[in-house]
Amino acid sequence: MNSPENICALALDVGGTNIRLAVVDQSGHIIARQQCNTSLSHIHASSDDQAETEILRILTSSIADILASHSHIHVIGVGFPGFFRQETGILVSSPNIPCLLDFPLAERLSDAVSLPVHVQNDATLAALGEFRFGIGRELKNLLHLTLGTGVGGGLILNGIPYLGENGMAVEIGHSCVVPNGRACGCGGSGCLETYASASGIVARYIETGHQDASNAEDVYRKALDGDMVAERILHEAGIYLGQAIAEAVKLLDVHNVSISGGLTGAWSFLSEPIRTSLNEKLIPPLKGKVRLHRSRLGDDTGLLGAAILALENGFRPVYVF
Ligand SMILES: [Zn+2]
Repeated sequence: MNSPENICALALDVGGTNIRLAVVDQSGHIIARQQCNTSLSHIHASSDDQAETEILRILTSSIADILASHSHIHVIGVGFPGFFRQETGILVSSPNIPCLLDFPLAERLSDAVSLPVHVQNDATLAALGEFRFGIGRELKNLLHLTLGTGVGGGLILNGIPYLGENGMAVEIGHSCVVPNGRACGCGGSGCLETYASASGIVARYIETGHQDASNAEDVYRKALDGDMVAERILHEAGIYLGQAIAEAVKLLDVHNVSISGGLTGAWSFLSEPIRTSLNEKLIPPLKGKVRLHRSRLGDDTGLLGAAILALENGFRPVYVF
């Protein structure tokens, strides 16, 4: 029989290029981890039904191995790139799988693996993980950004994730930073994500007609080697991030901002332009008040947020923060 102390959650962070899994105990310690290089972008379904079957197949097969070797997992939490209807686990839509709409992901996955499953937007869970176990431990409020394939955002107000009236708050990646700028997958133009995400940075670098870069790390390495185009693109990504953060701070008056995700590997190129443009764009009483933090948890923010969601909600059909 499992005592409450050794009950663990299985946390999933479903990213643009891979799925990361971790077994997490009640104290937030990761006791096992695994990575699957299957990604949602491989789903080329032409109908809702096909997409539903495929997403469930990908998630259940990635979960099966780890469940087989860890008998003390009693609940699953999933951070997923998409819009969720409040706390219901219903995926309203996902940029990765456009034909999948209003899909009860938590319920279907729970049926497939015979365990309670809680699902929420990946950036919201990254914010929760950073708030509880990282930079936010001593704070009341935290604005968190994730810089990966896209740019996500999450907000913790008075210790609780703020989801918005329909569950779609803090889509900072779709803040307009360049009027009539680059076309974005959301249908808009000039969105932060098209300049400051890994995919945006690579696309901008390739567009200059210089050597190819297959990922953002290549652009970072070129910048380190003195490639001035790579350096300029990273610098501009930082400026646009600072600009979008300043707009969010003017709305929220939140004084702590943390950033996680793969692109924080290029922090040496990003941090100064972010700080400079952030302070330039703030109103005078807020200048110098906002503290910018690189995540203390690295890539684990989303996994830990998913674990918190799962451990704190257990068998509830609809979760609460
Ligand atoms: Zn957009």
